[in-house]
Amino acid sequence: MFTMQPKNPTTCNQPDCNLPVCAKGMCRVHYDKERRPPTHTYDYTKDTEYTTWKKIRKLRIHLSWVNSYTQFLQDMGRRPSPEHRLVMLDPSNIYSKYNCKWLTYEEQKAYNKRTTMSQQGQK
Ligand SMILES: [Zn+2]
Repeated sequence: MFTMQPKNPTTCNQPDCNLPVCAKGMCRVHYDKERRPPTHTYDYTKDTEYTTWKKIRKLRIHLSWVNSYTQFLQDMGRRPSPEHRLVMLDPSNIYSKYNCKWLTYEEQKAYNKRTTMSQQGQK
């Protein structure tokens, strides 16, 4: 017959944990984990991407991004470096995954130059 190895009641009831009990038969670490699921401990409002999203939300922005920071993050990904800014490729258009890119100031300058040149060529 299978028998559970009785654990010392003064230590955490979680497997492979020998820390002293804090509450509900669990140590401080496991008790905290139980009370606050890990998915809720991540504070996305501190993301630089979130700050950007909040800023562009007030502007002309694609419907899929209006109420969804996660969609924005999924489409654009993380900002590659602090040098990068969210840039609209076509300023007359709206903020969307097709019209936005993380670019450095230099990259943006190079891009604008290219666009201006091609526009002049059309004349
Ligand atoms: Zn524990």
